[in-house]
Amino acid sequence: MISGAALIAGVAGSPVTHSLSPLIHGAWLTAAEIDGAYVPFAPANFIDFAQGLRGGAVRGLNVTIPFKEDALSLADEADDLARLAGAANLLLFPKDGRILARNTDGPGMLGALAGQAPGFDPTSAPAVVFGAGGAARGAVAALTLAGSPEVRIVNRTFARAEDLAAELGAVAVADAQNALAGAGLIVNATSLGLGGGPGPLTDFSAASAGAVVLDMVYKPLETDFLRAARAAGLTAVDGLEMLIRQAMPSFEAFYGQPPPDLDVRALALAALEAR
Ligand code: NAP
Repeated sequence: MISGAALIAGVAGSPVTHSLSPLIHGAWLTAAEIDGAYVPFAPANFIDFAQGLRGGAVRGLNVTIPFKEDALSLADEADDLARLAGAANLLLFPKDGRILARNTDGPGMLGALAGQAPGFDPTSAPAVVFGAGGAARGAVAALTLAGSPEVRIVNRTFARAEDLAAELGAVAVADAQNALAGAGLIVNATSLGLGGGPGPLTDFSAASAGAVVLDMVYKPLETDFLRAARAAGLTAVDGLEMLIRQAMPSFEAFYGQPPPDLDVRALALAALEAR
């Protein structure tokens, strides 16, 4: 039950019906007994919609496909990661009328690594990122800011890997097996594996022992990519952990307190299985 003073936030995307964010934030709101709500929006014109929220009637928005670049473009201020990634997944609307943009996908990825691969140190070895789309941009930017000695980008459309590498100071590598040599982290930031099917790599024999493998795809939770990594004796980190970790700083920014200690992973898994 909410009152007339409820704190309102939400997620904007197109489509937005698949988003797990309302479930995650809603469960945290209920557990913390906060007078607030978190609602999905699928605006026909995202820029007009977000501009109209200046002044704080809505505290903030998570932003998902395809609005993350637009979200950055309309912000008055953006954090380092959003600027470097060229995309924002969090907009805040303070009462003074400004729009503030942040990127919590990168911290979400690093948080998932800290949670499921304790001891992982992004500064200790090169990282490989498969993909050159929005998620890859965020990953490359976050790893660069975290002090990775080298980020290698592998992508089906090599020219996109080269462009992204040039923009973010990374290296484009054409051959996936070559990219693995000496890498401490291997990330799938492509949509390969979504809904089942093969990931961008099935052979991890060229990977270093002790490498950590993260898949941003979380449906299915155990992707072919992660299964192959585990079979090669590597540490696997799943995309659902990343999704939950990117939601945490958003919740705190919207409602003024960190999320309560509640196992939203179990709730999210049940929702994914029910689909
Ligand atoms: P995107 O901008 O559309 O990029 C898609 C990427 O996948 C591109 O690099 C594309 O390569 C590659 N790709 C697509 N189909 C391919 C195929 N058949 N063979 C080889 N490569 C293929 O998407 P995105 O926003 O970056 O998202 C990528 C994935 O990350 C999605 O599954 C998304 O759900 C997931 N994600 C998860 C989280 C999380 O919190 N867990 C956060 C963000 C994103 P080309 O350049 O060659 O087209």
